[in-house]
Amino acid sequence: MSMFRKHIKRFLLVDLLGGLWKTLTYLWKPKVTLNYPFEKNPLSPRFRGEHALRRYDNGEERCIACKLCEAVCPAQAIIIESDEKEDGTRFATRYDIDMTKCIYCGLCEEACPVDAIVEGPNYEFAQETREALYYTKEKLLENGDLWESAIKVRLEQKGSL
Ligand code: SF4
Ligand code: SF4
Repeated sequence: MSMFRKHIKRFLLVDLLGGLWKTLTYLWKPKVTLNYPFEKNPLSPRFRGEHALRRYDNGEERCIACKLCEAVCPAQAIIIESDEKEDGTRFATRYDIDMTKCIYCGLCEEACPVDAIVEGPNYEFAQETREALYYTKEKLLENGDLWESAIKVRLEQKGSL
């Protein structure tokens, strides 16, 4: 572009007016943005969010402390300690996930034979400290209780149940 044309364009504010015109053409078009957090996009049933430990309908913990999830976790984010009940069944005395290490690969959920550890639909769990992202068994069970109905629907849609 010649210098002369460049100066004329600048003098007539062609680029500025072009930008304003573009804005104007979008003024009456349907909005593509969402008013988050009041409006949210639908989630895929395959979405992998915050972890939760589930219980059976009678309240019993599903986890049998087989440690498959711990073994498969590529980030080594899971630590499990176990013990035996009087009837010989195993349970986790400790189930920790370091959420700062987790890469949300979903392998723990895939590996679990009893659908105990799952990645739920919650993605709003940002924290201000790293410590708050070291999840204990109590926290994970709490998540399970809180999100169970949504998790059940999600697993059904995925065809896992
Ligand atoms: S989602 Fe992946 S990285 Fe995170 S705890 Fe499970 S297996 Fe580990
Ligand atoms: S969550 Fe599942 S895979 Fe992990 S220890 Fe418990 S039963 Fe085993």
